[in-house]
Amino acid sequence: MIASSSLTKAECKLLDLGITEPSDIDVEAIAWVEGVRVQYGDLIGCEARLVGYGDQGIVTIQKGFDERRMRFSIAHELGHWNYHRGRSFSCRADDWVEGYSTKPIVEQEADEYAANLLMPAFMFNPLARAIKRPTFDSVIDLAAQFNTSLTATTIRLVESNTWPLILVSHTAQGRAWFKRSKDVPDRWFPQKDLDSDSIAFDRLFGNQERIRAQKIGAEAWFDSRGAERFDIVEDAIRISSSQVLTLLWIEDIEMLEDKIR
Ligand SMILES: [Zn+2]
Repeated sequence: MIASSSLTKAECKLLDLGITEPSDIDVEAIAWVEGVRVQYGDLIGCEARLVGYGDQGIVTIQKGFDERRMRFSIAHELGHWNYHRGRSFSCRADDWVEGYSTKPIVEQEADEYAANLLMPAFMFNPLARAIKRPTFDSVIDLAAQFNTSLTATTIRLVESNTWPLILVSHTAQGRAWFKRSKDVPDRWFPQKDLDSDSIAFDRLFGNQERIRAQKIGAEAWFDSRGAERFDIVEDAIRISSSQVLTLLWIEDIEMLEDKIR
């Protein structure tokens, strides 16, 4: 039984429609129920657009992108439809990743709605808890189940707080943004520049081969006091020509205590 008080608007919508499996989340069908028609075409300067007339809306999606990205775009526009009705929007999926921490609040709200619609906690969290290890191999499996992008799925995994994780995005200029699971204390603040021992460094500057997650001294990632006493698990993956995502698993429960003894 799912407690309705803890459900988001998007999750309530799914349950109202009787949708309980990831494979049943058909965003175009959900849009149709909400009075929104989805069409594909050529857009200039944006990747998704929402135009509304009263209770009817039209979402236009730039054709030619991969299916997972287009699904997220549709769900994002449905977020605008639910939260910001009466306004028109032109959005770019790129901004959702690269400008993650600095984007306007309405864009963050639309992203959150999209994440809740495509990866509702009542479906996502039980599957996330069941994975053996929180590394990109597991994220790739989750992303396949939910038909969502690797980036969106990883962000969801971190936000779900089902594992103590930090997700860090780097470009050659240094750290672009990061996200921590709620259980990870604030003192674990990833350094701006990559340590040359990290997998992330390899991913960004050299070796493109995918290797498995590794254990690494926490001081490679944090300059906080006491970091040298711990190991963490690091996995990194290149998601574009200029960006690497790193997933840090704070496996040692002593690191999760409020203060280092
Ligand atoms: Zn938007």
